[in-house]
Amino acid sequence: MTLSWPHCRRPIVGILFLGLLLLVSQGAQAVLPVVTTTADLQNLVEAVGGDRVSVLSLVPRGGDAEEYAPRPQDIDRIRGAHIVVRVGLDYDLWLDRLLRQAGKPALLRGGAGHVDASNAIVLLEVKGGGLSGGGHSHGAGNPHYWLDPANANVITGNIVEALARLDPANGKYYEQRRIDFLAHLEQRIREWQAQLAPLAGKPLLTYHNNWPYFARRFRLNFVGTIEPRPGVPPSPAGLSGLIKRMRDEKVLLIVRHPQEPARDVDFLARKSGARVAILAASVGDLPSAQDYFSLFETNVAALMAASAGNSP
Ligand SMILES: [Zn+2]
Repeated sequence: MTLSWPHCRRPIVGILFLGLLLLVSQGAQAVLPVVTTTADLQNLVEAVGGDRVSVLSLVPRGGDAEEYAPRPQDIDRIRGAHIVVRVGLDYDLWLDRLLRQAGKPALLRGGAGHVDASNAIVLLEVKGGGLSGGGHSHGAGNPHYWLDPANANVITGNIVEALARLDPANGKYYEQRRIDFLAHLEQRIREWQAQLAPLAGKPLLTYHNNWPYFARRFRLNFVGTIEPRPGVPPSPAGLSGLIKRMRDEKVLLIVRHPQEPARDVDFLARKSGARVAILAASVGDLPSAQDYFSLFETNVAALMAASAGNSP
């Protein structure tokens, strides 16, 4: 090998430099670029992908995926990816236009690099019907399915299938990481179930209908929503109807996430005597909810603290 660069006068320096180049290029080839619509999916891809993937979420942490307005740089991010992972249903319909604009056929629905994480999820609240005016629809089924941690089994199954298809050399690595992740999660689910047991069946109210999957897993009883329909704020008449219902049904807690308006929730809490719990509906919604595990830890702790009378 001839080392003719002027700055590589000594062969040893040149060899080290070449070795470094080789390492960097091998590292770059080994890392599979993935784009997800949400931080929850980003974290789950990272959990099973380890150091063989690099993952970007289009919706920034703390952002509202259901109301997301795509940015021009999102198209470049998609062009740089080999796999896109979406929540699906009515949750991130805005992705389809970005995928068409990015012009990579493998990433379009049905393509080898397109993962709809809702595939094979047992959906709740499938009602049919399209997008309603003034908000997003839950018509294709409630889309907040990642909030049942047991659904991570199906979600990571969909993810690992795609990772192994596009990167077969690391297929075993992804599958082993998934097995380890799910084993750890199963153990934590039992702990969270035990922690939330005192709240089983107690009447709760939520601002947005985020929680049916979470509620089913942890035996919580959400008796209603403050929004009359997803994305539609309550009217004054709606609020007074809710106060009566809350008193009749002895609602213990109202749940909202940090971006939802405090005003209506605090008003209802004052009038009814219910307490307020602020929960993370996604990874990154609260500072303590930075990954899939701490999302549930945060929510379990917030529910128990609010029910014990500690303010959020
Ligand atoms: Zn929703």
